[in-house]
Amino acid sequence: KLGNETAKALLGRASWHHLHTLLSRFPAAPTPADSSALRAYLHLFQRLYPCGECAAHFGAIMAEFPPQVGSRNAAVGWGCVVHNEVNRSLGKGEYDCAHVDEEYDCGCADGEADGKSKE
Ligand code: FAD
Repeated sequence: KLGNETAKALLGRASWHHLHTLLSRFPAAPTPADSSALRAYLHLFQRLYPCGECAAHFGAIMAEFPPQVGSRNAAVGWGCVVHNEVNRSLGKGEYDCAHVDEEYDCGCADGEADGKSKE
C-alpha cells in the first residue's frame, strides 16, 4: 500500500492533469449549455474530490475564485490560477500560466470535426 502522502500526491497529479486537459478542450466559444455543464462539473469535481481535506480546502479557493466558464481561454486561465492557489498553500513555486495552453495535450487527433479544435 502506498503511504498516505504518496497516494495523495499521485491522486493530485492525475486529477490536475485531467482537469487542465479537460479545460484545454473546452470550446473556444461555448454555448450556454456548455458553460453551465462546465460550471456544474467543476462544483461536483470539488464536492466529490476523494481527499476530504483537499476538497474542503479547494471549496474555499473556488468560493474566492468562481469558475470562469465563458470561453476556453477563461477556463484555462482559471484552472491555472486555482492550481497556483493550491501550490501556494503547499509551499510550492508559482507556475507560469503563460505556458499552460501548450502543456496539456489530450493525444486525440480529432480536433477538427468536434468543435473542440485548438484553433
Ligand atoms: P502538482 O501540483 O500535482 O502538478 C502537476 C504538474 O502540473 C506540475 O508538475 C506542473 O507541470 C503542472 N502545474 C503546476 N502548477 C500548475 C498550474 N498552476 N497550472 C497548470 N499546470 C500546473 N495536496 C495536499 O497535500 N493538500 C491539499 O489540500 C490539496 N488539495 C488539492 C486540491 C485539488 C483540487 C487537487 C487536484 C489536488 C490537491 N492536492 C492537495 C494535491 C497537490 O495539489 C499536488 O497534486 C500534489 O502535492 C503533487 O504535487 P506535484 O508537485 O507533483 O505537482
